[in-house]
Amino acid sequence: MRECFEIRETDAGGRLGELTVPRADTTVETPALLPVINPNLDTISPRRLADEFGAEILITNSYIIHGTDDVREEALEKGLHELLEFPGAIMTDSGSFQLAEYGDIDVTTEEILEFQHATGSDIGTPVDIPTPPDVPRERAEEELATTQERLDAAEDVDTGEMLVTAPVQGSTYPDLREEAGRHANATELDVFPVGAVVPLMNDYRYDDVVDAVAAAKRGLGADAPVHLFGAGHPMMFALAAAMGCDLFDSAAYALYARDDRYLTVRGTRNLDELEYFPCSCPVCAANSPADIRELPDKEREKELAAHNLHVTFAEIRRIKQAIRAGNLLELVEQRARAHPTMLDGYRALLDHATALEQTDPVSKGAFFYTSHESARRPEVLRHHQRLDRLSVPDSLLLTEGDSPRGDEFDDSWRVEPPFGPFPRALSKSYPLTAEVPDRTDRAALEAAAEGVTRLVETNPDTEFTLAHRGWPTAVLETVPAAVELVDLTSE
Ligand SMILES: [Zn+2]
Repeated sequence: MRECFEIRETDAGGRLGELTVPRADTTVETPALLPVINPNLDTISPRRLADEFGAEILITNSYIIHGTDDVREEALEKGLHELLEFPGAIMTDSGSFQLAEYGDIDVTTEEILEFQHATGSDIGTPVDIPTPPDVPRERAEEELATTQERLDAAEDVDTGEMLVTAPVQGSTYPDLREEAGRHANATELDVFPVGAVVPLMNDYRYDDVVDAVAAAKRGLGADAPVHLFGAGHPMMFALAAAMGCDLFDSAAYALYARDDRYLTVRGTRNLDELEYFPCSCPVCAANSPADIRELPDKEREKELAAHNLHVTFAEIRRIKQAIRAGNLLELVEQRARAHPTMLDGYRALLDHATALEQTDPVSKGAFFYTSHESARRPEVLRHHQRLDRLSVPDSLLLTEGDSPRGDEFDDSWRVEPPFGPFPRALSKSYPLTAEVPDRTDRAALEAAAEGVTRLVETNPDTEFTLAHRGWPTAVLETVPAAVELVDLTSE
């Protein structure tokens, strides 16, 4: 186990955890939001972040502080906690973001880590190379090698109790991301940002974000705290949490407010197009969109930033509660309906169902089948795997109907889409207590047929009969030919 991170509960790939930040003498509950603070701008003060929004941790850019003479001197003299007036944990970024945006910076990893330490940062960051998506492989490999040298250098800097991050790069090459994760995990460093995903998110490539994170996590291992660097929009937090991301930073709340953009969990709205606020935060409860439009620029920006933060923190709390209740994937399914590219993200997540299954609890409240993507959830996969271990008699009826009387079969199992067959004794256990729609869909039937096929192929000596409620021919054709078919709807 990593000393600084403890996982308390899991749901799919998501987890509730505790990040211990020794230098701040505090523990941060994860998933956690780190609002981004620009020390040169004061949209919402760090004190207000703590008092009004309950922020336990924030992130600020040590490169900007380092490069602004008066702020640098003040930071070195007073320390960041006093400079910002923030009682929680403070994480500092290096100049890597500026490196990606402007191509050149003038500090080394050693210098910036020593500076971060000298200013009292609780979590510091080396200067890695954020390789953008889709670059030639050779460039991704070269830049990754440089990042890895800098992580090795970071290990040798005396940073005392300050935690240090080990960013995971590798562009859009899953094998490089995985390798980068493995290398980072083998260092003595503490927190693991998945880097350079902002260009993917800006282009709505949520499926590629999922693949990048999944690859990084294969290398990192389960107990590593993962930070999704630059994931500022609350719409995608549930998806990211379900992948196993623990920390999110948000500059979006302030940046969007500056452009009169209003965040919701279903996407971004322009203040101009809103007649009503779909929110009950203090800003939206006390004002109409027209009221906010009439405010002077600076005040309007502050009010919108406050709303944007409220909605962002609320989503983090909703995610924590969903992990607690075991219905995180139901929340992801809802969020996936906000935008077709979010749906791509959710479908990409389900491509990694095998990885999610490792941490998904065996028992939860109830499985809700709320979209045809539900047929690909890890619980369905696990049920199919479990079929291999169940013993079956010589002749077995698998039926969507009632158990038959008489002794035509040695036993009769229930069939329930999307799970497929199971012994009646299991029908009270998760996930077979699922709430499923009466009007089922093709994906659920196909998944059920896969379960039947798996059971039949594992038990070649048993005679199987499948009694179904009018399954389409194309689905029935996927079931092995030896299975006798009975259509209950034509009886
Ligand atoms: Zn609001």
